[in-house]
Amino acid sequence: MKYVGAHVSASGGVENAPLNAMAIGAKAFALFTKNQRQWVAKPLTQESIDAFKANLEKSGILPKHVLPHDSYLINLGHPETDKLEKSRTAFIDELERCAQLGLDKLNFHPGSHLVKIPKRDPHYEEKLMEAELHCLDVIAESMNLAIEATAGSNVKLVIENTAGQGSNLGYKFEHLSYLIDKVEDKSRVGVCLDTCHTFTAGYDLRTREAYDETMDAFERIVGFKYLMGMHINDSKPPLGSRVDRHQSLGLGEIGWDAFRFIMNDPRMDDIPLVLETINEEIWPEEIKALYALVEA
Ligand SMILES: [Zn+2]
Ligand SMILES: [Zn+2]
Repeated sequence: MKYVGAHVSASGGVENAPLNAMAIGAKAFALFTKNQRQWVAKPLTQESIDAFKANLEKSGILPKHVLPHDSYLINLGHPETDKLEKSRTAFIDELERCAQLGLDKLNFHPGSHLVKIPKRDPHYEEKLMEAELHCLDVIAESMNLAIEATAGSNVKLVIENTAGQGSNLGYKFEHLSYLIDKVEDKSRVGVCLDTCHTFTAGYDLRTREAYDETMDAFERIVGFKYLMGMHINDSKPPLGSRVDRHQSLGLGEIGWDAFRFIMNDPRMDDIPLVLETINEEIWPEEIKALYALVEA
C-alpha cells in the first residue's frame, strides 16, 4: 500500500497542515513545524499541539506517514563554529517539536562544506575530497550530538539525498552510508530519497533498466531498511546536472515511467511519498495520477 501526499502549508499554525493534506486527498504529508526561513520560533503551544493531534486523527493520516522537513537555514556541517552551534541548537529544537507533535521522523539535508576551491587548482580533486570528508565527519558528529540531546525520543533523523548543487553533500549514496556508519544509535537514523535530487545527482530512473540499476545501487550501498520516505518530483534540469529545480510530474526530464516504477515497487510501501512539485494547484490531480499508476 502506498501513502502519497504533498508538502503542505502550516501557515496559521501546525494544526492546519493535516487539514490542508486532507483537502487535497493526501494519505501522507510533509510540513515545516516552524517558519523555515527564520532561526528562532516560538515554542509550540499546548493548544496547537492538541489541535494538530486532533486534526491528524480526523484526517485519518497516521503519524508515521508524516515527514516533517527541517529549516533550510540549518547546516549541520558548517565550517564556522558559531554557525555550526546555531545549526545544532536549531536542529535539536526541531527534533523536540516533532516529538511534541507525536511524530517520529525529521527530514533534513546533510549539510554543505562551503569551501571554494578554484577549478584551476592543480590539487582540485584532492582538496574537494578532503573538504567533503571533513564535512561529513562534522555532520555525523552533529547527528550523534542531536541524538544524545534527545535521548529517549523515538524521532528518527532522516537524511535526504541532494542534487549536489554548490557544496551540498548527500549527492552520492556513499555519503548517506558514510553518515549512517558513523551514527552510533542506528535506530535513530533513516534516509529520504528525492527523485529530482537522485536524478540530477546522476542516478537515472527513466527506464526499467536504469531504475533497477539505481535502486540496486541504493540497496547495496545504503539499504532499503533505512528508507523512511521519498520526495516525488520531476526535474527541470537534466540527468547529472547537479542542479536542484523541481518540476510537476510528467513535465520534466524524468517522466511518468519512473513514477510508475515507484508506485509498483513494494520497497516503497508504507512510507510517506511526498510531492514537492512546483504547482500546488494540481496536487490533487498528481496524487490521483500516481494512484492510477498502481497495477492490480
Ligand atoms: Zn528537502
Ligand atoms: Zn526533497
